[in-house]
Amino acid sequence: EDRVRKSCTPDGGRGGAGMRVVITGSAGFIGYHVAGALKGRGDGVVGIDNFNDYYPVSLKAARAQGLEKAGVYTVRGDVRDVEMMSRLIELCRATHVVHMAAQAGVRYAASQPMQYVDYNVAGSVGLFEAVKAAERPPAVVYASSSSVYGRNVKVPFSEGDAVVHPASLYAATKLAVELLAEVYHSLNALSVTGLRFFTVYGPWGRPDMAYMSFARAMVEGDPVRIFQANGAELARDFTYVGDIVAGVLGALDTAPPSTRELAENRLFNLGNTRPVTVTEFVTELEAALGLEAQRKFVPVPNLGDVLLTHANVSAAGSAFGYSPQTPLSEGLRYFARWYFEYYGADGHTMADDERNYKPV
Ligand code: NAD
Repeated sequence: EDRVRKSCTPDGGRGGAGMRVVITGSAGFIGYHVAGALKGRGDGVVGIDNFNDYYPVSLKAARAQGLEKAGVYTVRGDVRDVEMMSRLIELCRATHVVHMAAQAGVRYAASQPMQYVDYNVAGSVGLFEAVKAAERPPAVVYASSSSVYGRNVKVPFSEGDAVVHPASLYAATKLAVELLAEVYHSLNALSVTGLRFFTVYGPWGRPDMAYMSFARAMVEGDPVRIFQANGAELARDFTYVGDIVAGVLGALDTAPPSTRELAENRLFNLGNTRPVTVTEFVTELEAALGLEAQRKFVPVPNLGDVLLTHANVSAAGSAFGYSPQTPLSEGLRYFARWYFEYYGADGHTMADDERNYKPV
């Protein structure tokens, strides 16, 4: 309890304006970066993560250790546990909650559909229930996804576009989270801000994401598999994690409080606004890693991937000055530096990580 209180106490670095933030999924890729950035600017932060074994737990543990060094404590727990979440919010006296915990990834749903329902839908209900029960409910900023646009024909994607045709089970659960947020906002006056992230990449990335497996294949001399649909290539609005962090902080700084008079339900795209094809991406990655890729084009299996994502970010721009700053070549250089450091430090590889991890 003392560790939670200590972790949640702002250090006064922001002239007493510090927030007290509970962040779910803090041992995950984006949660880790957001927690570190908040602590770094003087806010109080406590993390919570269930350290599930969707990908090697050693990577999540390493992120949590890094946060601990920076003064952010990570509670091991599940967001579906409403009592525990309530207690955490109370102990922290949270002014804000950042909700990142989820089962991410589009393709894994083919084998583990229930995990998406449990973590994303039930998990978010658990979170909103705990927030609602708080004496002073904190404002919530939660992760949504560009995948909710489905096979949208209008580009770039704007928040006002109808999003009623998700192309994957993952997308359907993320859309469900947006609908749940709307309900908790209108019935319980919670302040809710949904952020639709567009394919996020960077240091400490998720091993299941394409750029991580591409890097691994290139280092190990294996072919890089590039998906094609009827000869057309997939293109993504790849967004550097540092820009996403700036967007999350902007959303937090402008989030109205959870009161009847002031609460709002907000929704913003956070993307890069410059989609590139996967082949162009691989060329940039070759330059960043200093390695050559063997390209192998394969038909895209129908697992819910959409052909193109492209964000219009003008809403986030007007609300909190969001403007992506990091060109792909630069972001990939930061990624490459981390990749070689992390996987090169003690000679271990991503394959070792997978063989050796112990589920918690
Ligand atoms: P991640 O898998 O690295 O992080 C999620 C973390 O949540 C993991 O550490 C996991 O252990 C934890 N978690 C999952 N279920 C939990 C539960 N029930 N209780 C407690 N902890 C739980 O993924 P990420 O890439 O950092 O994604 C963060 C958020 O952003 C997710 O909501 C994801 O859907 C969303 N998102 C990510 C991307 C991307 O490109 N990375 C794109 C769009 C949306």
